[in-house]
Amino acid sequence: MIPDDDELPSAIAEARAFLEWESELGGIGYVRRERPVAAARPPAGGGGRDAPAPASRATESPSFDPAAEKPRAPMIEGPRVTEPELSQRLRVLTDDAASCTECRLHTGRTKSVFSRGVPTADLVFVGEGPGETEDLEGLPFVGEAGKLLDKMIAAMGYGRDDVYICNVVKCRPPKNRTPEPDEARSCSRFLTGQIELVRPRAIVSLGRCAAEGLGVMPPDGRNWRGAWTSYRGIPVMPTYHPAYLLRSPEQKRVVWEDLQKVMARLGQRSVK
Ligand code: URA
Repeated sequence: MIPDDDELPSAIAEARAFLEWESELGGIGYVRRERPVAAARPPAGGGGRDAPAPASRATESPSFDPAAEKPRAPMIEGPRVTEPELSQRLRVLTDDAASCTECRLHTGRTKSVFSRGVPTADLVFVGEGPGETEDLEGLPFVGEAGKLLDKMIAAMGYGRDDVYICNVVKCRPPKNRTPEPDEARSCSRFLTGQIELVRPRAIVSLGRCAAEGLGVMPPDGRNWRGAWTSYRGIPVMPTYHPAYLLRSPEQKRVVWEDLQKVMARLGQRSVK
């Protein structure tokens, strides 16, 4: 697809990010820039969850059957809210997070960090918590790990604004330490609310903390990435965190395999 003139700067940035990710993996190729299933998603306020599953669901992995799972939290049910209501409810949650004092993390916050991207996205990325740059800017994944995440997203054929990105905790932990379990618990109502409202067709959880925050970490904490699991009926692909990939670039290859599973599920096919 040829971008319009006013989309060119971001299209160029996405193409560059994609090529950088590809070259870091040692490969050359391209991903078709199309979203065949986006149109099949029920419109806000219409269709609802009872609408027939889009045909592309046939591409889903046969090993994943949400109905057969025993969810730890109830499935998300009821009609989808309209887009204006979605924005309004997310705004209320964002403001709530910005003034939250429920855990110790609020004492160090410059800005709370709620989300970036579009709330109607098919795909949500969940990270751990804001770092220094994110705390200053009030947006998730805008530092070094964020740059790598943007490359990964571009390599999947998406732009930054085709997806929704958020974290387990909304305030920066001191010295970027991993959030404590009680901090993640205090903040969980925001993550739950976000996912319930956005209702993506798939979630990518980034790193152990995100897998734990979504309750998809196996009890023994081993072999936790690379296989489909689910959060309230939404398919989740747990993979490594981009900050870990900055330290261990040799793991990019397995992360790319995980992301390709997500692309296959969403009908976002690589033509390599
Ligand atoms: N790491 C995260 O997990 N989230 C961010 O927003 C930034 C870095």
